[in-house]
Amino acid sequence: MDTNWECIVVGAGAAGLSAALVLGRARRRTLVIDAGEQSNRVAHGIGGLLGHDGRPPDAFYAAGREELAAYPAVELRSGEIVGAERDDDGIVVELAGGRRERARRVLLAPGMDYRRPELPGIEQRWGRSVFHCPFCHGWEVRDGALGVLDRGESGVRRALLLRAWSDDVTLYSNGPAELDEDEAELLRAAGVEIDERPVAGLRGPGDALTAIVFEDGGERACAALLVPVTLHQRSPLAEQLGAELASKGPLVADAIQVDEGFHSSVAGVSAAGDASGQMQSVANAIAAGSNAAAMIVHGLMNDYAESAARAASRPVRTAPSM
Ligand SMILES: Cc1cc2nc3c(=O)[nH]c(=O)nc-3n(C[C@H](O)[C@H](O)[C@H](O)COP(=O)(O)OP(=O)(O)OC[C@H]3O[C@@H](n4cnc5c(N)ncnc54)[C@H](O)[C@@H]3O)c2cc1C
Repeated sequence: MDTNWECIVVGAGAAGLSAALVLGRARRRTLVIDAGEQSNRVAHGIGGLLGHDGRPPDAFYAAGREELAAYPAVELRSGEIVGAERDDDGIVVELAGGRRERARRVLLAPGMDYRRPELPGIEQRWGRSVFHCPFCHGWEVRDGALGVLDRGESGVRRALLLRAWSDDVTLYSNGPAELDEDEAELLRAAGVEIDERPVAGLRGPGDALTAIVFEDGGERACAALLVPVTLHQRSPLAEQLGAELASKGPLVADAIQVDEGFHSSVAGVSAAGDASGQMQSVANAIAAGSNAAAMIVHGLMNDYAESAARAASRPVRTAPSM
């Protein structure tokens, strides 16, 4: 087992790569392990990322990895971390295949599992003509016949939001729309139509969408569909380490709880990006990874100074936890 790492970063998405860049520039010996499944990889482009708007995700992640190559303290490996535990000397992680690595700090940046409704035809269109975030994909489908698959209060909220991108918005409630009078009036006033017919599936060539298909055999033209998702930890590592998890509203089922310095409830374990429940965007993940890494560097340097003071038998007041 290699005992030499100052930080192990789990995941090389936007959060993990951004953190590794900061750690590398601060010359901290850093191991990044990545399973290569960034959640937006299926999309044509990254919407709304300054300097990279519309850039294909694969090209963006490749550029991030390339930048890291300039920093000798960082090693990037493909693989999956399947286990993690804390002991008195730090954190030990286990890779698929059995290899174990030890570090003083771990940054969890594994992203989240975006669970979508079960509906025939969603999978092949996910991140393209079917999406969960209009800020990411709305511009590309502007002025088309847009749909929202949802009902009740969240259906109203999403349908009104989608009007930013088109005058032609339909709420597909897949059964009773469950609206009160005020909600129904809001939708009428915004020009949103409601179709309550049970939905059987989606029609369109390849990843394109042309129509919603109903159980009664009918169809309605639709070029893009906004669907609700719930986000769940995609890796068991936070739980194995004993980090506190909590739901963050109806969207995020079990975010890793972090303080303002991105520290989890377990000493030496930080978390950033989707996994810690930030608003889900590449820009936010980059910012969180960067901040979390800066805090890790602060913490490491404090640790070293405290150990040196202890070794010289000059106890010091403990620095604030970083
Ligand atoms: C379909 C879709 C489209 C999107 N489009 C946009 C968009 O256009 N614009 C935008 O700003 N945001 C978009 N988002 C949101 C954005 O992609 C996420 O907010 C962002 O990717 C989160 O970054 P992250 O680093 O936290 O996680 P991720 O990007 O998901 O990266 C996590 C990485 O960690 C790896 N990993 C997980 N577990 C382990 C493990 N145990 N061991 C090793 N590696 C592991 C994963 O394989 C992955 O490579 C989209 C999301 C989805 C689902």
